Amino acid sequence: MNVKLLTYTPSPDWVCATAAGMCTHRGPSTRVLRAAMKSGHTSVAEHAAFTFEIRGISRVTLQQLVRHRHASYSVESQRHVTIESLTEHCVIPESFDRLGVDVRPLLAELQHTYELLMAAGVPMEDARYVLPEGACTSLVLTMNARELRHFFRLRCCNRAQWEIRALADAMLVLCRQAAPVLFERCGAPCQCGEPCPEVRGCGHPRTPETAEVPDAGD
Ligand SMILES: Cc1cc2nc3c(=O)[nH]c(=O)nc-3n(C[C@H](O)[C@H](O)[C@H](O)COP(=O)(O)OP(=O)(O)OC[C@H]3O[C@@H](n4cnc5c(N)ncnc54)[C@H](O)[C@@H]3O)c2cc1C
Repeated sequence: MNVKLLTYTPSPDWVCATAAGMCTHRGPSTRVLRAAMKSGHTSVAEHAAFTFEIRGISRVTLQQLVRHRHASYSVESQRHVTIESLTEHCVIPESFDRLGVDVRPLLAELQHTYELLMAAGVPMEDARYVLPEGACTSLVLTMNARELRHFFRLRCCNRAQWEIRALADAMLVLCRQAAPVLFERCGAPCQCGEPCPEVRGCGHPRTPETAEVPDAGD
């Protein structure tokens, strides 16, 4: 997985602090923005947008990601882009290796079938039906800070599936660098010092620093 923050609204904290200050004629300040976030006056966070380039996530994770509706997505098309090598471009869960299950021969077989289908004249949009959910994809994603905060609350939780949690963690680190006030008290409820809302908690509350950026290089 490779996650980059491509661009964002300049001075996002200041823009949202200005919006918060406008409501009460108190002017833009960190204090006003913090108070707005704390009180739930989070619509002011809609004034800052963040655009990410995300490469190498599985279609499993894409499916979970696009359930978040207040966002814009531009996803690599399997109708126009062929997969060159499934063994290299498929997310293989760590549990497979840990339990000694090697799915690479199956992936090579699927790759072979995929190529046979296209060679036989099957359109790419049909040949893709044999590709697995683990197949990698890439996308550009834009969310505003309000939706990002909501996304982090759900997806940084230990109860979220590991791949989307890793993605959310990486995005949160990048957002905090760009807008430290908007994202300072943010993440899973336990990361914000709040009680766990889960019926059955994981028993391992996270700290605000738990998030890491996996493979933030090129
Ligand atoms: C741990 C976990 C397990 C999950 N398991 C499943 C599962 O088994 N099956 C499954 O189908 N999904 C599952 N989901 C997905 C989940 O149900 C949501 O679809 C997803 O998390 C998106 O969140 P959201 O609806 O808050 O959405 P967003 O689209 O991010 O919306 C943000 C907020 O906007 C408001 N909103 C958006 N659209 C509407 C609307 N049409 N009407 C009213 N209010 C709206 C809501 O307040 C919403 O919370 C799971 C999610 C998590 C985190």
